[in-house]
Amino acid sequence: PVFPSLTDAPVIRAPRGPQRTAKGWMQEAAKRMLMNNLDPEVAENPAELIVYGGRGKAARNWPAFHKIVETLDRLENDETLLIQSGKPVAVLRTHEWAPRVLLANSNLVPHWATWETFDDLDRAGLTMYGQMTAGSWIYIGTQGILQGTYETFAGAAAKHFGGSLRGTVTVTAGLGGMGGAQPLAVKLAGGVSITIEIDPHRIGRRLDTRYLDEVADSLEDAVARAEAYKAAGEARSIGVQGNAALLVPRLVEIGYTPDLVTDQTSAHDPMWGYLPPLAPDEDGDRLRAEAPEEYRQRAYDAMAAHVRAILELQRRGAVAFDYGNNLRHRAREAGVENAFDYPGFVPAFIRDSFCEGRGPFRWVALSGDPEDIRATDRALLELFPEDARLQAWLTYAAGQIAFQGLPARICWLGYRERDRAGLLFNEMVADGRLKAPVVIGRDHLDAGSVASPYRETEAMKDGSDAVSDWPLLNFGVGIASGAAWMSFHHGGGVGLGFSQHSGLVAVADGTPEAAARLSRCLTNDPGLGVIRHADAGYDLALDVARERGLDLPSLGT
Ligand code: NAD
Repeated sequence: PVFPSLTDAPVIRAPRGPQRTAKGWMQEAAKRMLMNNLDPEVAENPAELIVYGGRGKAARNWPAFHKIVETLDRLENDETLLIQSGKPVAVLRTHEWAPRVLLANSNLVPHWATWETFDDLDRAGLTMYGQMTAGSWIYIGTQGILQGTYETFAGAAAKHFGGSLRGTVTVTAGLGGMGGAQPLAVKLAGGVSITIEIDPHRIGRRLDTRYLDEVADSLEDAVARAEAYKAAGEARSIGVQGNAALLVPRLVEIGYTPDLVTDQTSAHDPMWGYLPPLAPDEDGDRLRAEAPEEYRQRAYDAMAAHVRAILELQRRGAVAFDYGNNLRHRAREAGVENAFDYPGFVPAFIRDSFCEGRGPFRWVALSGDPEDIRATDRALLELFPEDARLQAWLTYAAGQIAFQGLPARICWLGYRERDRAGLLFNEMVADGRLKAPVVIGRDHLDAGSVASPYRETEAMKDGSDAVSDWPLLNFGVGIASGAAWMSFHHGGGVGLGFSQHSGLVAVADGTPEAAARLSRCLTNDPGLGVIRHADAGYDLALDVARERGLDLPSLGT
């Protein structure tokens, strides 16, 4: 009964500029970021309050949204608003250094933590799926996907190819919402890519938006082109139309071994995501409708063939990794017992970053003026001249990324780097180099803020993959350190039952109080990433902890 008809849904756009209607900048920032999450330029389906990631929402329903906005405008500087899965449930007297908002999204007691229970509660209007940054009001559009994919390939370059993918060929598949970032990310890391995609329209879209450079006529043609670019040391992306379950095994047959091999088809969903090979006169939709079991079996067989080929390419010397789509799990279900012989992308390339507390630091200009982001880009390029990966990314992003909603930026920074960036932004607000305060936050996919055994915490050194004390400690640490708002969620990324994670947002409004909060939050939050990995026994994290002065009683540092 509380859901108005969709046609009544308002069009939301956050206020811009240095004037606020709320009683402090933290409340104003929370309000603007909630609204920005629902800006039609940002959200996938704003009428239903869906921001991204399937059904990840910013508020429970429209009445709840309006009530949150209204409450943030009257919230005092010593009060805290509580949000229970998208619904504002209480205003409490706390104190000035407390967060102004605390959010809990989609949490269920572990025994009941399934999609089935969640869906019942959702239908009853009692909860909401918050994904990661949807329900915690810090989503910034597709920039984050490209940057995260770039981090993965840059991580592969650092680990296996001396810091650059120059002179390497990557073979992958899938040019969808996430996968479409692969060719450009490989190119930014200096390499050549061949991306297999079944759907010609997806290929056309990536060509139009310049995420893909060219299309080959056949697999053999793609290989010939790729080898020519590789020999010339040129970074270039090539698409080829076809089914990965046929073309990856074909690489094995023709004896071609790329330097890297991965996949980002929608293998998580065997019925609607991963397409099995079909005969020219076969209609996939019809087969799915009329013979669903046969369709499913063929998809599973195809994924098994695909993974067997990846394993063989790995045996022949390719660096193989899983890109978070559960392809290995599907293949194992279909009988490929050694499907997990190649690693997921986090243990393969991202974990070293996590050991240093490196992760997706992002910020948003409340002025609404793109020039404010350009000023912060320049400031960070000067602050971290020695970080080649950051230099390459920020230089590219400054020239090429179109803003969605409030102007924003993302880059990966580590422990004792994020606090320096945050304090610099605060100074820039104070001395007028920036026209209004800046919101600083991060994804929940970060070094010390998530427990997710099939993704961020896969194959931890000490076997602690499923221990979710760490994100809870992260939530507490953010509150104790003075975040503007903190959130604790369940089920983001990999779905209900599979992850628990916490989000932090702080605000640089140019005041000394903001500097104190930023310094504590942006030190302790990535610090927990170093701590979590040091505790799990990673030498790199232990070195970072020692060198950068973390006090870890059980480890003697
Ligand atoms: P999407 O559904 O938008 O795109 C998948 C693409 O794969 C489509 O273009 C489809 O035509 C193509 N495809 C399907 N079967 C194929 C086959 N057999 N051969 C060739 N092409 C085929 O999905 P997306 O948003 O790009 O996500 C891709 C996968 O990555 C999903 O499984 C998703 O869950 C996973 N994912 C990974 C991460 C991560 O952190 N790496 C994050 C989110 C999602």
